[in-house]
Amino acid sequence: EGVIVKALSGYYYVKPLEIETGGAGGEETIQCRARGIFKKKGVTPLVGDHIRFSHTENGEGVVDEILPRRSELIRPPVANVDLAVLVFSVREPDLNLQLLDKFLVHIEHSGLDTVICLTKQDLLPAESGGGNPVALVKELYENIGYQVIVSSSRLGLGTELLKERLKGQISVFSGQSGVGKSSLLNSLVPGLNLETSAISMKLGRGKHTTRHVELIELVHGGFVADTPGFSQLDFLELGVEELSTCFREFHSYAEECKFRGCSHTHEPGCKVREAVEEGKIAASRYEHYVQFLTEMKDKKRRY
Ligand code: GDP
Ligand code: ZN
Repeated sequence: EGVIVKALSGYYYVKPLEIETGGAGGEETIQCRARGIFKKKGVTPLVGDHIRFSHTENGEGVVDEILPRRSELIRPPVANVDLAVLVFSVREPDLNLQLLDKFLVHIEHSGLDTVICLTKQDLLPAESGGGNPVALVKELYENIGYQVIVSSSRLGLGTELLKERLKGQISVFSGQSGVGKSSLLNSLVPGLNLETSAISMKLGRGKHTTRHVELIELVHGGFVADTPGFSQLDFLELGVEELSTCFREFHSYAEECKFRGCSHTHEPGCKVREAVEEGKIAASRYEHYVQFLTEMKDKKRRY
């Protein structure tokens, strides 16, 4: 058995798994073709697939069977992703909670587990006292059940916690360009040396080169995709009535709303709005919900 870590020109590069330990075995990958049967069935092996393969005489291999997928991401095309690491910097660029909530909506919709990583902690002035903004953000999101890791690649802060979280999982990193995703990955994987740069240069590169997604193996077990996920944040794949389900702290209140299919905006007897007024749901989260709802309705009207 093995995991496909790269797909290129009809070849699949497979990392063999040591079945007894469940851990990764050895350094090398095996270059495999897929059996013709997959094509006939209209199935394509994906990076991240857990597969059975056999060795051929020329030192290559053949993918015989794709084991059932736990998940399937479209951008980037990776199977069996367990965790989305949502990366936001506290400075440069400044923390934008509306954008953070937008990413969270998309990740919730995908059904993946999430950890929020707040980077570049070193850019904040040392404890100014009286409501450290990062501590407040951490508290807000932890209260609704998201793990939040405060980090700095420059200082090596938070990387051990993150390593622990990534162990044994397939993860994708998400977040705007320039927030420090590549720097984080470099600090997690010795010898990786991904290019890190100011925003403008990276955008330039992205436009002209086609990138193939590849899984990077972590020393302690687990894989990370080298291509960010959830880069497309329009709401086209989301139904209007699905939006509120992507705000996890609304759930228990929404069940009690007077009207079925309550949009939590104008209906009388809305328990979500009541919870906002009582401070049980963060005002910023609710505001973003209403903004996204408006944005979705506008878009649907245009298409
Ligand atoms: P990506 O686009 O999300 O992959 O971001 P990069 O990792 O390329 O980082 C963007 C810029 O932020 C680079 O100039 C990095 O040197 C800088 N950067 C990344 N992490 C940190 C950090 O922890 N502290 C500081 N001060 N700068 C950082
Ligand atoms: Zn309601």
